[in-house]
Amino acid sequence: MLIVIINMCNKGGGAATGPEGVWNLLKGDNANLAGYYETCSYGRQKIDFDNTVVIGPLNMPCNGIGSPIMGSVPWTVTSCRGQNPYGWFYWAEQTVAAAPYNIDLSRFNHRVMIMPRLHQVFMEKDCDWAGISTTGPINPEPTKPNNYKYSYTWLAGDTWSSPWLWFHELGHAVWLSHANTPNQEYGDIASAMGGVRGYGLRCYNAPQIWQLGWGSPFVLLTRMDLTPGQTELKWIPTVASDPDHSIRINLAQDAFNPKDPSGVPTSCLSQYWVSYRTSSSVYDMPWRDMGSGLALVHRWDAGSFSALIKPLLLAQLKVPNAKAPYDTQVTSWEAPGCRLVITAMDMWDGYALIGVCVKTSDDDFEFNCGDGLDDDCDGLIDMRDPDCLRPPGKTPQRTTRPPPPPKKADEGDEDGPYWISAPGLIYEGLLHLMFGDNTSKKGSPPPAEPTVSTRAKSPKPSGSTVAGRNADEAPDKSPPPPPPKNVKPSPKIRPSRRSAVRLV
Ligand SMILES: [Zn+2]
Repeated sequence: MLIVIINMCNKGGGAATGPEGVWNLLKGDNANLAGYYETCSYGRQKIDFDNTVVIGPLNMPCNGIGSPIMGSVPWTVTSCRGQNPYGWFYWAEQTVAAAPYNIDLSRFNHRVMIMPRLHQVFMEKDCDWAGISTTGPINPEPTKPNNYKYSYTWLAGDTWSSPWLWFHELGHAVWLSHANTPNQEYGDIASAMGGVRGYGLRCYNAPQIWQLGWGSPFVLLTRMDLTPGQTELKWIPTVASDPDHSIRINLAQDAFNPKDPSGVPTSCLSQYWVSYRTSSSVYDMPWRDMGSGLALVHRWDAGSFSALIKPLLLAQLKVPNAKAPYDTQVTSWEAPGCRLVITAMDMWDGYALIGVCVKTSDDDFEFNCGDGLDDDCDGLIDMRDPDCLRPPGKTPQRTTRPPPPPKKADEGDEDGPYWISAPGLIYEGLLHLMFGDNTSKKGSPPPAEPTVSTRAKSPKPSGSTVAGRNADEAPDKSPPPPPPKNVKPSPKIRPSRRSAVRLV
């Protein structure tokens, strides 16, 4: 990583820090970026300190000429739009490559610029971002689209010291999109790519852990594994205790196997990811109390590390017998229009028992009281379901309802459907939130500084003990999905001068 600290011709509040401050954030005594990666990646991703250099503050002039490769476009420090951020980096790269620094730029896959304090004061309106990042690398070689060259990230001088911001922006640099809820950009409490609500720092969500190659599903279910009226019971470990922790339910049709026993409508092609997330360490505290958690259901329909599809958090389910952060009684969620019901059923020794069931019809009651099936997936079969004691024709009420259909999260997004990320630069319009401005339009602030320092232990139960509990099956590791290799990045990821620039 190349990190440059910039003073922009003495405008604003001047350089935000010196190299010592940056090194302290990278690997100092408190919560630091090295520990953040180590923890959230299960030790699979480390900062390459042998190839990390911090330089500055550098005194940047007020304007200059950009890279010849990008058309020698003039740049200024008074605008954050267009080619200007690239122009700043071109100047910084030229400066550090020359004497007295003589830095070999080819060593760095990620290049971070720490802006001066109060940059928003001397730039045009709407430059009050907390950070900007490229989506993936700046310029993959045209002949080798999988050959990652380097990313650019710009951090505001007033927010650069937040580990969350680094983890978020560098997430964009490896193709992660914002983690949303159907109604809110950044609304996913379970990911550093969202996280405008919640308590402390946090790792990424279950599909993003797969996207990064840090973990695989614990259980993989397809249509071939599902039968109407029957519940698949799966024990899954907490996210923190095992890199392979989620249930990935892939409803794509199997083109080579036309027989589909699932009863899931053919229009349902999504992938749902079920995980049991707890507050587990200083780096992953979605909620205040260590050990408290929920079963989460995400939807992410992609299958490539470089996909620009945003994951959506669709459900937060209370796990019976587990410590929960909210006083919620909702334990079950139905995928709209898919007859698929996901239920958190129990917790034991750090494992959550999840039921995956397909209703026999769109109705929400026990349709046939003598066929041995759980028609409405409420866990009660035939005469054990109170539905069968009701007068014919009377439809009982379910205690949980599917959520409303997704709405567009950002009305200002002109780049297409809300779940598709725009290519090019991503501007984080969060600066005012990180200062705690409650009048903002975005909601609650991003994660606070961590206040705890111990990591929860989640001992694994033995297989035989689990089987002796009330599950049909002990945890079984399903084969991991194909590794995200040899997948051509979408051509959309290549930033160009014509790339759409998105304000979020
Ligand atoms: Zn972002």
